[in-house]
Parts: sequence; C-alpha cells; structure tokens
Amino acid sequence: MSNIRQERVTYVHHWTDRLFTFKTTRDPGFRFINGQFAMIGLQINGKPLMRAYSMASANYEENLEFFSIKVPDGPLTSHLQKIQVGDTVLIGTKPVGTLIQDNLLPGKRLYLLSTGTGLAPFMSIIKDPDVYERYEKVILVHGCREVAELAYADYITRDLPENEFIGDMVRDKLMYYTTVTREDHVHQGRVTDLIKSGKLMEDLGLPPVNASEDRFMLCGSPAMLTDMVKILEDLGLEEGSGSTPGDYVIEKAFVEK
Ligand SMILES: Cc1cc2nc3c(=O)[nH]c(=O)nc-3n(C[C@H](O)[C@H](O)[C@H](O)COP(=O)(O)OP(=O)(O)OC[C@H]3O[C@@H](n4cnc5c(N)ncnc54)[C@H](O)[C@@H]3O)c2cc1C
Repeated sequence: MSNIRQERVTYVHHWTDRLFTFKTTRDPGFRFINGQFAMIGLQINGKPLMRAYSMASANYEENLEFFSIKVPDGPLTSHLQKIQVGDTVLIGTKPVGTLIQDNLLPGKRLYLLSTGTGLAPFMSIIKDPDVYERYEKVILVHGCREVAELAYADYITRDLPENEFIGDMVRDKLMYYTTVTREDHVHQGRVTDLIKSGKLMEDLGLPPVNASEDRFMLCGSPAMLTDMVKILEDLGLEEGSGSTPGDYVIEKAFVEK
C-alpha cells in the first residue's frame, strides 16, 4: 500500500506575499494527534516532492488545513503557492511529532510559543478540548516581523470564542499574545526576550515562569528554539519526549539548509 495519498484542495487563502493557508479533503483513515505533522507535497517532474507540514486543523475536523510559507525559490513552495481549489496535493499517511500532550507532565499553565509558520501546530492544539481539560490557562504566543503576518488573529479572537463546542473553554482559558519585531504593535520584540525579561507574563497578569506549574510547547525558527531552550533550562525546566514526559517539548518550524 502506498504511503502517500492524493487529496483535493478545497480552499486557499493568501495572507501576505510570504504566507498562505490551504485546506484539502481528508481520507477518513488519516488519523493524527493534534500538534503532529505529516509529509505533504506535489508531483513535480513526475516525482513526489514532499516536505514536513504541521496540521493546522484539529483531528476532529472534516478537512485538513495547512499554514504555509512561500519561499521564492523553494523547491516545493515555489509551486505550492500557486495551488487552486480542485488541484491535487500529496499527503503522507504517517503523522508524527513531539508537540503532543502526553509528552508533558501535568501543569497549571500551557505556553504555546511560536514564530512565523510555527503557529500551525498550535492552531490544531487550541481547538482540542482535551488541552483545556488539562490546564487552567493556555497561552498562545505568536511572534512575527510584521502585523500582516499575524495570520489567524481574527479567527482566534472572534470565531474560536464563539465556537459551539469549545467556545466556553476558549473564553475561560485561552490567552492570546502577539508580538511584532519590525512594526508598531501592541507588543513588540522577540518572543525569547519577552519571556526572559518576564514582560510577557507581567503583561498577561501571570506569575513568573516556574518549573512546577508551567509547561511549554515551542515551534519556531532553529535560532528561536536554541535561545528558548537555554532560557527554559536555566529556569530548571526539562525537555519531555514520548518515553519520558517533561516540562517542555520543541519542534522546528523549518530546517535551515
Ligand atoms: C517538523 C517540521 C514541520 C514543518 N511544518 C511547516 C508548516 O506547517 N508550514 C510551513 O510552511 N513549513 C513547515 N515546515 C517547513 C517545510 O517542511 C518546508 O521547508 C517549506 O515548505 C519550504 O519548502 P521548499 O521546498 O519550498 O523550501 P526548502 O528547501 O524546504 O527551504 C528553503 C529555505 O527556506 C526557509 N524556510 C523553509 N520553511 C520555512 C518556514 N516555514 N518559515 C520560514 N522560512 C522557511 C529556510 O531558510 C530553508 O532553508 C516544517 C518543517 C519541519 C522540519
């Protein structure tokens, strides 16, 4: 049996000249844990060209959703950014990843720290009712260069709190914090600096990070992950995995080539 399926594009939305979102049909046999990623791609010159992509949809939703970068000369995304409704996209059948709830020890607050397209797995996680059962507060942080790159902001602030299934939990527990580095915005600066200085927690009225109560999921650039891991380790938090749950887990939003 092939480990790649064909799905049909059902929706495309371009946020900026660097970012877009698309949805596809979903084979009922494609099961995943919220926060995981799969290989997705296109048939190019007669061969599948596949890249890792986090599911931005929740595992109970009918369609699959992806939030993508457009790399101008990128082998995949120079083509993928041109897809239209009705086109075929290839989807690997084996979702994997470390950003899953069971890799974390129980805690009071869950921080979801993202930069750029690192938001994608957290769009899945903030739609997961199980996450709200586990934590008193879920804090979604998204850092970008420009305000226009804060994709999904309207969905998170307007639509999700009105969701008929999880709206109550979202209104009660989800905190959403956006920060921008190259333009004026309500919060400015790097996610790493805002955590290290404690400003982010102060702005949200939360206590300083402590290893017994706070859990972290990180998804961003390799540089952001390196800096953030150092900050968390210095505060006494330990990395978790499938075999040993811990205080934080990380996933690269992309790999530098
Ligand atoms: C675990 C994992 C999950 C991923 N999930 C996503 C996702 O949900 N959405 C997504 O758009 N990409 C995601 N990526 C990156 C993705 O796999 C590809 O790298 C991306 O689609 C570009 O493919 P490409 O062939 O056009 O260029 P590539 O040859 O893959 O990349 C070329 C260069 O572009 C830059 N780049 C690549 N991806 C990004 C990005 N997302 N943001 C900023 N710069 C980037 C890097 O400098 C890279 O060296 C993920 C990567 C990993 C490892």
